[in-house]
Amino acid sequence: MKDYKTGAVTSQVRSQRSWLIFLSGISLILISAWLILSTPENNAADGLASDIPKADIPTTLQESAIEYTADSVKLDISNVIEESTVNDSELNDVIEITPHVIAPDSENLIVDESLSESIEQQTNKSLQTVTVKTGDSLALIFSRLGLSPRSLYNIMSIGKEVSRLKKLRPGQILNFHINENELNKLEYEVNLTNSLLITKQDGKFQAELIHEELEPLVKHAKAVINDSLFLSGKRAGLSDKLIMQLVSIYGWDIDFALDIREGDSFTLIYEEQYKDGVKVADGPIIAAEFINRGTPLRALRYTHEDGRHDYYAENGDAMRKAFLRTPVELARISSRFNLKRKHPILNRIRAHKGVDYAASTGTPIKATGDGTVALAGKKGGYGRTIVLKHGGKYSTLYAHLHKYARGVRTGKRVKQGQVIGYVGKSGLATGPHLHYEFRVNGVHRNPLTVKLPKVESINKKALPEFLQTINPMIAELDRLTGKRALASQQTEESPKQLSALMEDG
Ligand SMILES: [Zn+2]
Repeated sequence: MKDYKTGAVTSQVRSQRSWLIFLSGISLILISAWLILSTPENNAADGLASDIPKADIPTTLQESAIEYTADSVKLDISNVIEESTVNDSELNDVIEITPHVIAPDSENLIVDESLSESIEQQTNKSLQTVTVKTGDSLALIFSRLGLSPRSLYNIMSIGKEVSRLKKLRPGQILNFHINENELNKLEYEVNLTNSLLITKQDGKFQAELIHEELEPLVKHAKAVINDSLFLSGKRAGLSDKLIMQLVSIYGWDIDFALDIREGDSFTLIYEEQYKDGVKVADGPIIAAEFINRGTPLRALRYTHEDGRHDYYAENGDAMRKAFLRTPVELARISSRFNLKRKHPILNRIRAHKGVDYAASTGTPIKATGDGTVALAGKKGGYGRTIVLKHGGKYSTLYAHLHKYARGVRTGKRVKQGQVIGYVGKSGLATGPHLHYEFRVNGVHRNPLTVKLPKVESINKKALPEFLQTINPMIAELDRLTGKRALASQQTEESPKQLSALMEDG
């Protein structure tokens, strides 16, 4: 729309210019005189357009546009909402050149007339759909619609139910049913499942919260990663939101920036949410299997009795992982996290971005969380050092080691509490101690005070219930990944063959 209008203006200017060129043949003086007269006029028009505060124009125009479209509202409400939100910018653009600036032009007049006409029709009885904008409040919206502050006051004094109206968010939708400038009914979509209905009965406003369950539809997707997780997910028909959900479920076990290999794959069972037959939301993922470098990891969504939900492995271990606060038991803290510490050996101010635990040489050091060994080797003043990555977000560092525990090498996986090395004084150290660092998204945090994610696995008492609940999900994952076919094949083998198979394994 804007391009068209600007185009029209430019071609107008262009024809003016060619006229000027034609004139130049007759008299140069005339041209310059004309230029002096005509250019400021054009500039003045432009200046006027930019002088009109942009924030004000859309407000009035948007409202009139809403009123305009509201005329046909009874036929198609969704259309109105879409027009009032999606076309905002287009409308703003038009306004800048049309009604305020440019001289009457038949095309623009038609738009204006139809707008004002519908506004008049609307004043008697109407449904007006308002999409909340940034900086909006109910008071502002009431005044824009010409509704009395009294009615707003009466609504707000209903009580607790209407307190939601104080927290309007941009993009939310309010339906005003107005009769002769009096508000009869107000519908407010609080979220996808709740709406607030305010009605006037016998001159008094009443509020009611209406809850509407969404209808979930279970879907599944499968993908082999041959470029990026994101692109593969997209090809499998997943939305950005679902891909991000997958990343966050597995983020503790897999570093999606470093661990993903070509040929990794995933299978997802997830929900799509529908309201009145229209898809309104994606998710949640209800079960997943991710095969990273040949190792399958399953995650199942489980809702507890109190409504909490989280993702768990098949054995009830939480997918989110907690951290141990300290990597060495019964050790004395000899130096704390301090960004302005004087270094004991270098004797100058040097931030101490970790905690020192004084302990005798050979004291075992534990991995504070499940993770992958990103480094087990010498690292300057740190001496023998281990860096563990715990998914993509967290990493821990253990320095001045006397030696590494057996089998702890770069690339190996370690479990929380597993001994990874032993206290020593390698590198720049005055005596045997462990220097321990904790990073969140690459930033050093105080290991003693950083807020650690707290996660509980399914406890023994709740385990039977958990296993029963996840059983159908596991069966479905088995079916989708072809595991069930394999299992039934094996049971069909004769006992002899089976034992042979087992010996081979
Ligand atoms: Zn230290």
